[in-house]
Amino acid sequence: MQIPNLPLLYMELTKLAREIGFESTCILHVETLKPLHEVRDMCAAGRCRIYGKRWSCPPACGSIERCTQRIEAYQSGILVQTVGQLEDVFDAEGIARTEKTHKKRFETLARQVRCFCPDCLPLTAGGCMRCAVCTYPKKPCRFPKKMMSSMEAYGLLVSDVCEKNGIPYYHGEGTIAFTSCILTP
Ligand code: SF4
Repeated sequence: MQIPNLPLLYMELTKLAREIGFESTCILHVETLKPLHEVRDMCAAGRCRIYGKRWSCPPACGSIERCTQRIEAYQSGILVQTVGQLEDVFDAEGIARTEKTHKKRFETLARQVRCFCPDCLPLTAGGCMRCAVCTYPKKPCRFPKKMMSSMEAYGLLVSDVCEKNGIPYYHGEGTIAFTSCILTP
């Protein structure tokens, strides 16, 4: 399938994202993406507990310099968000439910975009959990064409990316938002 030109591609991506159910989308200006060692340091601190345990995550996903090079090969993209409603700040179930919905939606979006733009780079929220036990580091990834790294794994500070592209990172009291992006050539 022929890749549409930039405005058409963005319109197509937005339409797809809205159909899939994302509450919020915006064009992503690639020049705003600045991978930071400090974000990697947060990964290494082990908050998500999968640093060094998945092919999708650092250090396996490549150095900050390598991730920067990959990002610079792209011209444009789209940011997508799932915004969930919480009963209160302790609503862990609501957070988990929203995260699950977001990951499912983003899998669908990435799969569909890869059909007409196979060289795109989807960056999701959280590490790849496709397999219960990752093959890292002993064997190659089982699904290298489906595996996705997170924005954080690429050293991106998601709140900063949202702000620079004109989309809220925080949608107000009683909400939680998960953000991902797809970069296109
Ligand atoms: S697809 Fe499986 S093997 Fe590959 S990174 Fe994800 S969990 Fe690991």
